[in-house]
Amino acid sequence: MSKKRLVFATGNQGKVNEFRQMLGEEYEILSMKELGVEVDIVEDGATFEENAIIKAKAVMEATGEMVLADDSGFEVDCLNKEPGIYSARYMGEDTPYSVKNAELLRRCEGVPEEKRDARFVCVIACASPDGTVETATGVIEGKIAHEPKGENGFGYDPIFYLPERGCTTGEMLPEDKNAISHRGIAIRKMVELLKKKGSV
Ligand code: IMP
Repeated sequence: MSKKRLVFATGNQGKVNEFRQMLGEEYEILSMKELGVEVDIVEDGATFEENAIIKAKAVMEATGEMVLADDSGFEVDCLNKEPGIYSARYMGEDTPYSVKNAELLRRCEGVPEEKRDARFVCVIACASPDGTVETATGVIEGKIAHEPKGENGFGYDPIFYLPERGCTTGEMLPEDKNAISHRGIAIRKMVELLKKKGSV
């Protein structure tokens, strides 16, 4: 039986591998690099969902393939949900996360615990050549920490505190974080959607 093909519109090979593992042997998941395409995409949506759809559609139109794309970020309620869709660009793309994290913590100084709600959000969009678009959203709720902790993970992980676990996601083992993360949830939902649709 020939494998069913999906393209993952990301430059991040880790995300492609994660998806590959979850969909199993029957499916061929290709990164943009593996497919040999480069598409210039302006991510000018106002939400994670809009940006994921913009990316998936642009690559689907350029390749004629069924395409998955994701968009994710960190929301802090007491900062009007900043950095949100600007998570990667917050304080400049090249600014180290130690600096970005210190600035977010400084802005939250003195904010009481009950107002420190924060979350990671991930939306995965799937654009098919037949014109249909589907999305799956994953959210993990927690708090903005009081100090950075943990050497694992990346980005905002050291300042994202999970009260029920008593640690930040930066202190978790990758497999433990993947099991409960926004990305893990969104990936599992999308895999279910695709299987139900019968498209993979
Ligand atoms: P992307 O859409 O997956 O590239 O993520 C956008 C940005 O959101 C990243 O550059 C990080 O700043 C932040 N982010 C998304 N997911 C995570 C996570 O699991 N841990 C820490 N930061 C994250």
